[in-house]
Amino acid sequence: MLTLIKNAEAYAPEYLGKKDVLFADSKIILIEDCIDHVNTSIPIHVVDAAHDIIAPGFIDSHVHIIGGGGEGGYKTRTPELMLTDATTAGVTTIVGVLGTDGTTRRMESLLAKARGLEEEGISCFIHTGSYQIPVKTLTTSIEEDLILIDKIIGVGEIAISDHRSSEPTFEELVKAASAARNGGILSGKSGILEVHVGDGKRKLSLLNQIADETDLPIRQFHPTHINRNEELFKEGIQFAKRGGYVDFTTSTIPYFLEEGEVKCSKGLRIMLEEEVPISSITFSSDGQASLPFFDDNGDYKGLQVGKVSSLFQEVRGAVLEESVPLETALQVITSNPAKVLKLANKGHIQPGKDADLVLLDKETLTIKTVFAQGKVMVKDGVPVVKGTFE
Ligand code: ZN
Repeated sequence: MLTLIKNAEAYAPEYLGKKDVLFADSKIILIEDCIDHVNTSIPIHVVDAAHDIIAPGFIDSHVHIIGGGGEGGYKTRTPELMLTDATTAGVTTIVGVLGTDGTTRRMESLLAKARGLEEEGISCFIHTGSYQIPVKTLTTSIEEDLILIDKIIGVGEIAISDHRSSEPTFEELVKAASAARNGGILSGKSGILEVHVGDGKRKLSLLNQIADETDLPIRQFHPTHINRNEELFKEGIQFAKRGGYVDFTTSTIPYFLEEGEVKCSKGLRIMLEEEVPISSITFSSDGQASLPFFDDNGDYKGLQVGKVSSLFQEVRGAVLEESVPLETALQVITSNPAKVLKLANKGHIQPGKDADLVLLDKETLTIKTVFAQGKVMVKDGVPVVKGTFE
């Protein structure tokens, strides 16, 4: 099957101008100013995209695909991700993680769910390990999981500076990170250590100490929730300036913003003004996470569920409300996570890469059409492929 997208404004994510994009089955084969004569007897599906922007499919590097939580007891365990939660949000690649609950949420279920999402049409990977150290693994260790299990590309999320963490020590975190590094090197995978940073007083101090005192590269870590409050955000700027990655969480609730969370769209603009390199910044949604809120005594007050749809909303907000150029803003959900996660076929519109593509309305910057592995998943904003139980 050949698909030809005509006359789209291409952001690959760098701006390329008006382009035609041809893909065969699941791979992009050509991107040119004008593709008119394709010498083949294979039928071509032509899509007129004269009113559209074409961008790489979005990558969401932190989703609780089997649900997460729940900090308010069993009835607050959050539900699993459905296929169209991702596709209608333009997300064609996901990394699934366990969350606070590494007891009833298991690596086995995470792996099975990732395979299920792939059977339904999108690309899905997982990290091994859990919030608490010692981490839960599928085999006997982090290294074995990375080396032996294709879908496992990194480790985490491991929690630091959080009252729900295991209060990991310097040595414990270093051991997990070096296992992640070795497993990543030996398997040719990212081996990134996804670090959940809570609102505790130590903030990024453990990661800074590791960067100061060990031989682990600072880019072994992908600290997330960096925008959760003003102070952590400021430390995040310094961490990025010394070479580290910083990941923003796009899912939020009004209560969090009232309590001082930095809105992602605005935070991106501020980081760029502070001259943080754009290549150090990523966004992820924390989709299906429990978003619990606690009072000053640490007592549970309530909970909502994270949404994958927040991922592009914040990128869109950065462009429309904060005047961040689209080609810059798009990087945080396309080429940058592809690089962090070492996903060579993702995050760019280039010949040979996967045909994961999003068409956006040029005027409104809303998601119109989504292709995952060359297949139309969403058309005119409406899902045409649904998950098994949708
Ligand atoms: Zn987290």
